[in-house]
Amino acid sequence: MKAKKWRQALLPVYLLICCSYLPIQSWLDKAAYGSSSTSRRLVIVLDGVPFKTIADLRAEGRFHHFNQPARMISTFPSLTNAAMIEILHAEDSPGYEDHYFDREHNRLLGTIQDRLNGGKFIRGTFRETFDYHASAFKGSLAYVAAPVGAIVVAHLDLAAFRKAFRNSNAPLFVAYIGETDSLAHLGGERPLKSFLRTLDRAVEELIAESNEQLEVEMLSDHGNNYGDYTQVKLNDAINAAGFKAEKSLKDANSVVLPKHGLVGASELFTAPENRARLAEVCARAKGVDFAVYESGAGVVELISKRGRARVSRDGERYKYEDAGGDPLGLLPIIEEMKARGAVDANGFASREDWLRATIDHRYVDPLRRLFDGFNKHVKNRADVIVSYEDGYLLGSPFLSVFARMRATHGNLLRGETEGFAMSTRQELSAAVCGYELNRLFALDQRVKAGSYFSGGGHCQSGPALAKMIAGRQSAID
Ligand SMILES: [Zn+2]
Repeated sequence: MKAKKWRQALLPVYLLICCSYLPIQSWLDKAAYGSSSTSRRLVIVLDGVPFKTIADLRAEGRFHHFNQPARMISTFPSLTNAAMIEILHAEDSPGYEDHYFDREHNRLLGTIQDRLNGGKFIRGTFRETFDYHASAFKGSLAYVAAPVGAIVVAHLDLAAFRKAFRNSNAPLFVAYIGETDSLAHLGGERPLKSFLRTLDRAVEELIAESNEQLEVEMLSDHGNNYGDYTQVKLNDAINAAGFKAEKSLKDANSVVLPKHGLVGASELFTAPENRARLAEVCARAKGVDFAVYESGAGVVELISKRGRARVSRDGERYKYEDAGGDPLGLLPIIEEMKARGAVDANGFASREDWLRATIDHRYVDPLRRLFDGFNKHVKNRADVIVSYEDGYLLGSPFLSVFARMRATHGNLLRGETEGFAMSTRQELSAAVCGYELNRLFALDQRVKAGSYFSGGGHCQSGPALAKMIAGRQSAID
């Protein structure tokens, strides 16, 4: 009760900072830097902005310097680490999320405390290769007094990015704004759109200051599906079946289920001989769309309440065999592909044919993405991956205390999968895959302008808050 009053009292202060900080800083910056006519490129990566949201804003006349936005087909699971590594062609991340199971040490690593302490979240990861990335501690503040905290932090992030860009003379500047994802999660569509309108004005200003010389490209790493979310009781299902959900693999029945954000997919670790039964148990739980596991090299088995399927890969060619129930709903599509002559005698079709055939399906490009979930972007790869239905999620018990989720991502379905990409200098096709963006946006030409971290990370309350949370989290666990 006291906390609620305290939070209410803070709201006007938050809003005041939010409303006055940007215009004042923009005015000061303009006075300091004036205008420039040198041609430069700016790529802005916006975490978790769905294609639909950008399409709506374009329809209301925003981002008018840009060509039509493309749908950006993310990875499976549709989570930032895997998606950004695919886009940047960066080194594999230790885990699917920052809290992950390390097979070699047989323990969970990467805690919220690490994130608040700053260093490990950014240093040595793809995040360090951006010319602008907000401090880790500042990002964590978004969850305090949500969603107003997320709105304020997003505006501070935008202001810090503009300052960093204006301070730099790198010919290609790549900025990462992470707060858009927190805004979608915690605030939903309205505050995210409102922030993106501010971003639109900021981009307009930067283009005007460059005498229309600045070329801007924007992309997001995955979507976010707006809606009410319910936690899946996966631990209960696992334990009721005789497995033991725990923090390390102690015996034959151990299962490790890392929980970090509040997202639409989970990655499970267990002994290889448990994979088939564990996937079956997970697939039966309420809110689970399907569970997948690798049964051998080049073979992924998919189990759902609707039935089973086997997916096979031969190089970059893929095959879907219905083992009853057609759980991904691909049989009519395969008939069309056969009629076009796209399917060979063994039932395989090329990566491009599958993408083209499933582009408007509820699961876009599903077969390649399922395989990549077990074989790419991540060092510690799961034994079983569970994809939830829209409206269901699983994640950090700690975050669920703070946050009511209004959107999330992670699963194989379109809303959680589809980000966007758009450019002022080129027309993109209607849909692009993450792996194409490095070439399309020439991201490998970036010369890091020197990592710019806004001052928030030096704040001494970061480590203090980390300590407080460590105590609180061990109470929850
Ligand atoms: Zn997210």
